[in-house]
Amino acid sequence: MPKKFIVGNWKMHGSIESVDALLSGLSLMGADAGSVAVCPPFVFIPAAISALKGTGVSVGSQNVSAYDQGAYTGEISAGMLSQLGCKYAIIGHSERREQWLESDQQLAAKFVSAQAKGLTPILCLGESIEQREAGGALAFVERQLRSVVDIVGIESLSLAVIAYEPVWAIGTGKTASPDQAQEMHAHIRSVLAELSDEVAEKVQILYGGSVNAANAAELFSRQDIDGALVGGASLKVDDFASIIAAAKAV
Ligand code: PEP
Repeated sequence: MPKKFIVGNWKMHGSIESVDALLSGLSLMGADAGSVAVCPPFVFIPAAISALKGTGVSVGSQNVSAYDQGAYTGEISAGMLSQLGCKYAIIGHSERREQWLESDQQLAAKFVSAQAKGLTPILCLGESIEQREAGGALAFVERQLRSVVDIVGIESLSLAVIAYEPVWAIGTGKTASPDQAQEMHAHIRSVLAELSDEVAEKVQILYGGSVNAANAAELFSRQDIDGALVGGASLKVDDFASIIAAAKAV
């Protein structure tokens, strides 16, 4: 299994000044190549790429268009992001699924488009609190996963990252327990293993949902938790650095 991978999702936060300060902190942090990425809002991506060059911290986007180019007002294509130097694209974050009603089919198209331009998709999956309380979390996440895999093909998952993010844990301060997260990660891996042992073994499955400096180490100690997708805590250099250190220490 490859080393742990920590990704910061800045969401729609920041100003020129605050991003400048955050990038200065990140550039001094020191990271092993391939172990850390940050996903700023689109407009700050060029600044992030320039400030983080040679630091080991890669840059990704929080979304990507399913289209290559054309009359798609407001869209940003995978080719554009790739040309800037982006390495990753978050696809299917629950905020996009819920507020922009992105369907599994649309997400699969984004996934294909990202990979075609050399971006590694970070595919987000996760159940609502109602689904978990009704005992349907595993089945729901499995359905989300299969809907995309059926379209993109199992082999393409070997060049992707999966993020399990229970919707009820995102930005709420409520983290899934390490047992809950491990159970879901193992289930995701077993679904993939039905199709390809090799892909199941290789794919990194990150946990996301109120990860912070205090809970990261215990989450990372679980066998199938290969890192984290971090929202709020990625906006504070010290907190983000502690999460990265916890990942490195496992
Ligand atoms: C996220 O935005 O993907 C996320 C997990 O946010 P937070 O860490 O703030 O819960």
